[in-house]
Amino acid sequence: MAVTQLNYPVDGSKITIKDNQLIVPDNPILGYIKGDGIGPDIMHACLRIWDAAIKKAYDGQRKIHWMELFMGEAAAEKYNGNIFPDETRNALQELIVSIKGPLTTPVGGGFRSLNVTLRQELDLYACVRPVRYYEGVPSPLCHPELIDVVIFRENTEDVYAGIEYQSGSPEMRKVEKFLKEEMGATFFDDAGLGIKPISPFGSKRLVRKAIQYAIKNKRESVTLVHKGNIMKYTEGAFRNWGYEVAREEFGDYTITEEELYSQYGGKQPEGKIVIKDRIADIIFQLMLLRPNEFDVIATMNLNGDYLSDAIAAEVGGMGIAPGANIGDHVAVFEATHGTAPKYANLDKVNPGSLLFSGVDMLEYMGWIRAADLITLAYPKVIAKKIVTYDFARQMTGAKEVSTSGFADELISEIEKGIDLSALRKERKAAIEQERNDL
Ligand code: NAP
Repeated sequence: MAVTQLNYPVDGSKITIKDNQLIVPDNPILGYIKGDGIGPDIMHACLRIWDAAIKKAYDGQRKIHWMELFMGEAAAEKYNGNIFPDETRNALQELIVSIKGPLTTPVGGGFRSLNVTLRQELDLYACVRPVRYYEGVPSPLCHPELIDVVIFRENTEDVYAGIEYQSGSPEMRKVEKFLKEEMGATFFDDAGLGIKPISPFGSKRLVRKAIQYAIKNKRESVTLVHKGNIMKYTEGAFRNWGYEVAREEFGDYTITEEELYSQYGGKQPEGKIVIKDRIADIIFQLMLLRPNEFDVIATMNLNGDYLSDAIAAEVGGMGIAPGANIGDHVAVFEATHGTAPKYANLDKVNPGSLLFSGVDMLEYMGWIRAADLITLAYPKVIAKKIVTYDFARQMTGAKEVSTSGFADELISEIEKGIDLSALRKERKAAIEQERNDL
């Protein structure tokens, strides 16, 4: 008989889909996976913060019924060494919305990345990483407040597809023979070989999601990031398919950057999103020098991986960068950093990345008031210079607290209450001012 380790909370109801929309009850069951290394520390802290914000925002009328799921080391203990049990995979699909901590992946051998497996098996094809600045957070930039981008990274293709052949292996020899003898390719003997599949289907559904997000959230541009000048039939094709989706499916909502200048004299027409593209290497420079020119970014798997970490560093580092893996409805939100094993169980690290992934999750569920409470209470704690070790070492006069200590401080700010409507107005005015200035 199959081992069952899951307990469905009896008072909760499942999220459902109707007419292509998420239907979220007031008592939804959500899955959570603590993860390895520092995962349990940050998950315990964040569960308390999310619950406090929901309770405050909805006066106890709404409540998440959390259900623990197991992956990685914790799963291996419970399921006889199985690190990704079927019942975890099924529950992630059935519950629709879940959140996870980081999972260990050995380099250069052992099992394949669990995160990659998760994304591919549940077809969570878009990795969505919003990066914005929170006042008071230490940053290496003079104007980190200019950064407010959402990166859509393709999650299922590219060199992450796992089509790789080890140097000297019989498979590698076979591919080498085919490439050299039949295709006329030239490369050094014994080279390890990797294949980079980029398809019209995978590229278009990712760009479609990015444009839909831009329309829904009234964003100004979608930038396709690629290295198409070198890899013409993969990265270059991604760019072409991206423009094709914009033109064929969103023609009423989008214009190209070329049209912006040739037809509109450089003045963006009201309600139109500009579709542009940039080469992958220059985008790293532009995100440092002129970050306010970028809004939503759509790119392939490897570019997206590098770029999201680099941009996260500009606003304070991996400790606070959130992320989500989203398919057509099923979504697994996640901390973007790894398991930082040297800090495991020390109650030391920054819970920000998981915390803000949870904020994005609340927004995905339509629980905006709870999400805003956290987003607005957070800078109040940072303003008091109460921070975890990673920020403390970059600030003068900081008071360093533990992961759980930071959660206590944030919960106490949340419980004091915040005038959300006044702050929302203030934030909207600031964004409008910034856009006008631009
Ligand atoms: P890492 O775990 O992200 O840690 C690298 C460094 O980043 C840490 O030593 C620490 O810097 C800083 N850091 C990470 N999380 C932090 C937090 N919450 N607060 C403050 N600082 C934080 O990267 P890694 O050491 O390369 O990877 C370790 C394991 O995690 C590997 O098995 C890797 O495969 C896995 N991983 C998993 C995921 C995922 O599950 N999504 C993502 C990436 C990596 P300092 O040492 O400077 O303090």
